[in-house]
Amino acid sequence: MTPVTALRGVGEALAGRLRAIGVESIQDLLFLLPLRYEDRTRTFALGELRPGMRVAVEGEVQLAEVAFRGRRQLLCRIADGSGQLTLRFFHFSADQQRSLVRGLRLRCFGEVRRSPSGLEMVHPEYRRVDAAATATPDHLTPVYPATEGLTQGRLRQLVGAALERLDQLELEELVPARLLSAGSPPSLREALRYLHRPPPEASLEALMARRHPAHRRLAYEELLAHHLSLKVLRRRIRDEGGWPLPAQGDLESRLRASLPFSLTAAQARALAEIDADLARPTPMLRLVQGDVGCGKTLVAALAATRALAARRQVALMAPTELLAEQHAQNFRRWFEPLGVAVELLAGRRSAAARRAALAGAHSGSAPILIGTHALFQEGVEFAALALVIVDEQHRFGVHQRLSLGEKGAAGGRRPHQLIMTATPIPRTLAMTAYADLDVSVIDELPPGRTPVRTVVTPDSRREEVVQRIRSACLEGRQAYWVCPLIDESEDLPYQAAEETAASLAEALTEIRVGLVHGRMPAAAKERAMARFKAGELQLLVATTVIEVGVDVPNATLMVIENAERMGLAQLHQLRGRVGRGAHASSCVLMYRAPLSALARERLAVMRDTNDGFEVARRDLELRGPGELLGTRQTGLAQLRVADLVRDADLLPRVQSAADTLLTEFPDRVEPLVRRWVGGGERYARVG
Ligand code: ADP
Ligand code: MG
Repeated sequence: MTPVTALRGVGEALAGRLRAIGVESIQDLLFLLPLRYEDRTRTFALGELRPGMRVAVEGEVQLAEVAFRGRRQLLCRIADGSGQLTLRFFHFSADQQRSLVRGLRLRCFGEVRRSPSGLEMVHPEYRRVDAAATATPDHLTPVYPATEGLTQGRLRQLVGAALERLDQLELEELVPARLLSAGSPPSLREALRYLHRPPPEASLEALMARRHPAHRRLAYEELLAHHLSLKVLRRRIRDEGGWPLPAQGDLESRLRASLPFSLTAAQARALAEIDADLARPTPMLRLVQGDVGCGKTLVAALAATRALAARRQVALMAPTELLAEQHAQNFRRWFEPLGVAVELLAGRRSAAARRAALAGAHSGSAPILIGTHALFQEGVEFAALALVIVDEQHRFGVHQRLSLGEKGAAGGRRPHQLIMTATPIPRTLAMTAYADLDVSVIDELPPGRTPVRTVVTPDSRREEVVQRIRSACLEGRQAYWVCPLIDESEDLPYQAAEETAASLAEALTEIRVGLVHGRMPAAAKERAMARFKAGELQLLVATTVIEVGVDVPNATLMVIENAERMGLAQLHQLRGRVGRGAHASSCVLMYRAPLSALARERLAVMRDTNDGFEVARRDLELRGPGELLGTRQTGLAQLRVADLVRDADLLPRVQSAADTLLTEFPDRVEPLVRRWVGGGERYARVG
């Protein structure tokens, strides 16, 4: 790699600003791809202009004057014989004003707008055209992700300087030619040059959509690198010793016997897959995917019996304290009758209780420890950790997953990892996003659940919704009311929840109303949740803190305000809070009119299906990736060129190419991962 400081004019200060956007070498500069392009190769006649065009024009200055139209501004009129155009500047210097003399020829680039006095450009880029005709560019103009301290002009110039050295740079072709598809540019250099300097005839549309073969060439390589990084990580973990945990039967059968129900076929299948992994001397890395309420926690508890029977420890990590608390309750209910203690390591414990739990972890006398990610942060040492259970993996990234394994690797053995997620993700995506994990799917809900009926209703009908809550509560059921997400300010959601709780309490005098939101002290939150669980509160007003995992079978009504602003995955999670008992449940999605066509369709998906995988599939179709399906939280979040949904068709090829590289070109794997995923990452290391 050649450091950026090797470029003329790049000193320490500029290098620092480049480092802040992840650019350290000249090679990195080349991988800083344009966000979009502008066509300045063609100059439009002023008479051809229409509002909305972003184009280059040339004309002669007719007049330049300072005017006061509300604000002081410089107006300059240019003409070219076919028409005229006003250039409007709100910020300008006296020099600038003086330089715009009548008769001067200007070349401008900007967006054409309609104004009361004809067409104009506000703050166009412009320069004088000298007699020695300044050449128009011979390629489309790239627009880079400029930041403060790194202007567009500066970035263009830097990338230009990097391109000049392109042929001398160390930039190895790492993907063997036969693994590239026929239609794409054969070399990395060619693809990069094309994307920074597209010829005038290039399809702007394909370039802007990042679907040009040059993009696809890079996207393919990037996906391959990410996929390899996960495979390598997985291999490294597998190479470390694990704890073989063969079936010992007794504890597991006692736990099963204590349950008032038997496992669903899907639970049994997932458990069999887990058991087979646990019996091996290599660490398990398994993801259990299943819709909310399918009974993942119980499967995890049954898996835990293996470790406990072997006198090893189990840690369960939840995404929030509330959930850690709830898991602790469930595990205590299951394990304490069997004589196995459950320790909760969450924030609000007293210092003494915390010390005792830590000592128990360290000595091995505490067999089950439950907590948040803090479990793996603040000096918690385990004597013999054999199984780590992670609930709702999508809140943790690949790195956290990795560090959690290392933490438990005491004695040279790495604990088995069982990850549970309710975030459904289509199979091809799963294979890439979770290339380091084996996947079990629980695709069946326990019997006796009545499907949740979903209705979509405008918030003008709030009165009727409040009536529904009243009748549900008077029938002995309970309800949730989830308040809108307001993203402008951190405080607003909590205020909105407080106000909503107050107004609902006023409207429903005979109903006991409670409130939970993320800003409340943990103890108050838990108290409210416990009272709701015990049936003392009938209506629980909440922000989305209840999103994951709360289990109150008597709750049959879920009202979600401003549902149009939430992701479908999140709505589905929230809806999964009801329909957990024998009574018919419903979910009311309230929206604020008017709805966009897309929002209408998305809410219709929720109304039409209760199946999380179907919701995910439709969401994918309607919306594309982004925050979808938790892909943002996976290691694939930081893709530079590729897009998991747009480039999904590449994934099968990526998977087989990864295998070929690992077996036939193992020495190319590390540089490839380093190029795209980063060298500083621990999982980039091979072996
Ligand atoms: P998940 O974590 O997958 O969303 P939970 O583990 O919270 O689901 O299970 C939801 C509820 O279903 C819990 O009350 C649990 O005890 C219950 N449950 C789990 N498995 C079964 C089963 N096989 N039959 C009946 N109820 C079950
Ligand atoms: Mg759960």
